[in-house]
Amino acid sequence: MTKEQSKINETATQYEYSFDYIQKKLEGKKDSYGMLMKEIVRAGICTECGTCAAVCPVLEWDYVTSQPKLIGKCTGCGICYNQCPRTITDPIQLMGEFKTGYTANTNIPEVIGGQDGGTVTSLLVYLFDEHLIDAAVVTMKDPKNPWHPVAQIITSKDDAIKASGSIYSHSQTVEALMDAIRQDYRSIAFIGTPCNIDAVDKMTNSPAGMLKYFMRAHILKIGLFCMDSFAPDAIYPFFKKDGIDLSKVQKMDINKGKFHIYYDPQGEPIKSYTIKQLDKFKSSSCNFCIDLTAENADISVGSVGSGPNKNTVFSRTGLGTEIIEDAAKKGYLKIEPFNSINLNSVLFLAKLKKVSQYNIQKRKVFIVKDTLEEEPRIETKPEVEQAEIRTTLGAKKFFSVSKAIIEQDKILNISITNTAGYVLEDVKIRIVIVEELFEKRPWVTNIKELFPYETIEIGYPLEEKDNHLVYGNVLVEASTEGFGKIFSRTFKLAPKEEK
Ligand SMILES: Cc1cc2nc3c(=O)[nH]c(=O)nc-3n(C[C@H](O)[C@H](O)[C@H](O)COP(=O)(O)OP(=O)(O)OC[C@H]3O[C@@H](n4cnc5c(N)ncnc54)[C@H](O)[C@@H]3O)c2cc1C
Ligand code: SF4
Ligand code: SF4
Ligand code: SF4
Repeated sequence: MTKEQSKINETATQYEYSFDYIQKKLEGKKDSYGMLMKEIVRAGICTECGTCAAVCPVLEWDYVTSQPKLIGKCTGCGICYNQCPRTITDPIQLMGEFKTGYTANTNIPEVIGGQDGGTVTSLLVYLFDEHLIDAAVVTMKDPKNPWHPVAQIITSKDDAIKASGSIYSHSQTVEALMDAIRQDYRSIAFIGTPCNIDAVDKMTNSPAGMLKYFMRAHILKIGLFCMDSFAPDAIYPFFKKDGIDLSKVQKMDINKGKFHIYYDPQGEPIKSYTIKQLDKFKSSSCNFCIDLTAENADISVGSVGSGPNKNTVFSRTGLGTEIIEDAAKKGYLKIEPFNSINLNSVLFLAKLKKVSQYNIQKRKVFIVKDTLEEEPRIETKPEVEQAEIRTTLGAKKFFSVSKAIIEQDKILNISITNTAGYVLEDVKIRIVIVEELFEKRPWVTNIKELFPYETIEIGYPLEEKDNHLVYGNVLVEASTEGFGKIFSRTFKLAPKEEK
């Protein structure tokens, strides 16, 4: 008797009944055996409990590979995925508690041109008109530095309209919030990404939170959905290299896995990239972020799940619900109830974000693989020509050298870490012995991509004379094509006993 027959015969009615019942419940969701393998088993976080194999007639536990194995045709019902202790499937775990979900868009002619449906801007216009707030913290474009975000305190609906649109980079919103509080604003709307909202939430609710002591200031937290943000120092040079004039860009938008750039927001994008292409420019902190929907906000606003020029909105507090409903009643917003199909898209993306941290190492491997086909990612060799080193970029710390140890085998082992917070491309590391004013034995290591906080170890062979190592000063320099020289430090080498 096969495993399939024995399972069904033992408890046929109850087993089949519950299988069918759960199958119906999961209809329309994208959970499946494939997802279980990708997110849990191949990511290396499977606990080998065997639950997935225990519940499905076409899965069995493979004792050789210590993994579940298909022994029949998978229907993609997702039952295995939903029993696994390592998957995150509960809607509240995925997107936090909320009172009401809406699909919304502006009803104010001047706000058309907001990022999606213009809901955030319309709420700000309503809040100013109704005198419910005396200031708001928003993020605008730096007039001197195109598309660099600057957090601002605004006090009028006209400025709220000017601030509409998304900038896909970290903005120091809390600094502006503290300034607004110091300027004695009492009722402040705070717009921020989930990480910004978390900062305000912690400052308000944690035992040592600073905002607990500013009770006269009430802060309405309007959170933006957020899947990732990008490091301006890394992504904008890439855009420029690709022929994009940032001063002409009117809109950037992320939609269905693509990043679009517009000179004319009503027209076609002048460039579109897949998010995978831009993954290496992502801020490293976003790899560790598990909140898509701003779970700690009063009102959360995004676009996923609601189609073009519309917003997905969740009110999470009583005040949040009242504000949305009243803004709609008074003609600032159009709202419709959110349906379960839309919710499934949000839950699917929220799940991708929650589990993305499991795949950090794997994702790095994917990126490297793309380039490996053409040339090796790390290549080290004696320098043939003197390296041309350009100017140092400010005082920004891109690199740290954590150790320089002479190993038994006459190799100087140098560990170098990328502390820039984003991928550094085409890094050239030059190691050279400096004797008096002269450089000897230059050795160059070329690295295609060095990931944020990734450490590489370079072995530099030391010189030997009459069976003894030659000691002296070792200069370690690093440069990249884009930034010029980014690191330079001299190490004094000495025999072990003299250290
Ligand atoms: C970094 C980032 C990533 C995002 N990723 C997603 C995503 O993956 N899926 C999704 O559905 N939605 C995402 N969004 C939200 C989406 O882009 C819109 O902000 C949201 O749908 C609100 O649209 P709206 O038309 O109401 O905005 P608008 O009415 O145009 O108002 C936008 C508001 O956002 C503020 N703002 C702009 N940039 C920033 C910033 N960097 N930090 C803080 N506040 C800012 C502005 O001050 C403005 O008040 C992201 C937003 C950002 C900033
Ligand atoms: S049939 Fe359903 S429970 Fe079985 S492996 Fe496929 S998705 Fe999982
Ligand atoms: S249920 Fe999840 S954790 Fe348990 S064996 Fe299957 S994949 Fe691994
Ligand atoms: S992905 Fe997370 S850490 Fe990154 S900007 Fe968005 S909320 Fe902040």
